[in-house]
This record gives sequence, structure tokens and C-alpha cells, in this order.
Amino acid sequence: MRVLVVEDEADLARAVGRALEEEGYAVDVATDGEAGLWNAQSWEYDAVVLDLMLPRVPGETVLKRLREKKKTPVLILTARDGVADRVRGLDAGADDYLVKPFALEELLARVRALVRRGAGEASPVIRLGEVEVDTAAREVRRRGKLVDLAAKEYALVELLALHRGKLVTRTKIYDHIYDQSDPTLSNVVDVYVSNVRKKLGAGFIETRRGEGYIVRG
Ligand code: CA
Repeated sequence: MRVLVVEDEADLARAVGRALEEEGYAVDVATDGEAGLWNAQSWEYDAVVLDLMLPRVPGETVLKRLREKKKTPVLILTARDGVADRVRGLDAGADDYLVKPFALEELLARVRALVRRGAGEASPVIRLGEVEVDTAAREVRRRGKLVDLAAKEYALVELLALHRGKLVTRTKIYDHIYDQSDPTLSNVVDVYVSNVRKKLGAGFIETRRGEGYIVRG
């Protein structure tokens, strides 16, 4: 899953970005509202973490402009005493908010919930035959046994699980498991698919030649 972080405080942006990457997300960071809006409109993010106090274009404007075109789940970051900001942010289409300073653990939990709800999923655990994907713990089990997946392998499984029963194109996979700093070599996804099949069963991912991949619910 791919997340955009729009935050002008460099240390905070770095800390949030790193925490999300450690969780296996592809992460893009924008340090002002203009760049944030451009990114948010240009890519299909699974969630956006948006500070409201931003240079160039304020976060509230970024949110309103984004909402004219997209339903991307947005978590706004606001100051402790910013009750009015939070209300305006939620009214402008934010899905959730977090008050600064916040614990990274809480931000990660809220992002997980946003990504899940954005995909129309209420429960954190998705069952696919003998495979169970726990999107809260970011763990995958097969016949009850924990399966060790690399970060990008997990990202692929989660993406397919959240779209189970539907064709997921290769383009969509690239857009959601890589960020702008990742090299996108076309054969890499094939390698992940092959690894996942070895670990979760040959039939777990079906290939639609020339189109993409599908897992069954
Ligand atoms: Ca700020």
C-alpha cells in the first residue's frame, strides 16, 4: 500500500515516513501544500497523511481540491488547541485526525484503519481459503501457521486480498507497492508473485496473462 505524507517539519516528515516504510508501505513525502496536492492528484494513494499548517498551499485547501476529484482516505494532523481546525478539516472531507504531538504507533494504527476502510473492509482479518491475512498485525497465516513474507511480498498479498475476486492489473500493483524512489523493473512483480506462490500455495494467485492477477475470496 502506498501512502503520501505532506508535512513541512523535516524531522517529523522523516520520522513518519520511516515508520511507515518499516511497516512495509511505499511512501512519498511532500514538504509543502503545492507539492502535496500535485502528488495526491497524480497518484493513486491508499492514504494521505496531511498536516494542516503548510507553506505555499494550506492543508485545508489541499484537502478541498483533492476532494473535488478523489476519495483517497485522508488523515489530518492538527495542533493541540486546533479544535476549529479539526472541525473544518473533517467538514472539508478528512476521514480522521491526529493531534500533534502524537505517538507513531497511533499514527500507524490510524493509517492501517484508513487503508482498510478505503478498500471497503471493516474487519482487519481477511480469509482466503486456507490463507488468513491480518492487516492489523500485518501477518499472513496458512493453515494457522505464520508465513514469513518479505515486506513487498506482504504488500502484494495485502493489495490482492483487499481486492479479492477482482482483477488487479500490473499497473495497479506498481502504483500501490512502489513509491517514487523505488526502481520499477517490470520483472520484479513476477518474482514476488512466484515467491508468494511458493509460500502460500501455487493456486493462491491466478495469472490473467497480459492483464494481471487475482486471488479468490
Ligand atoms: Ca506544519
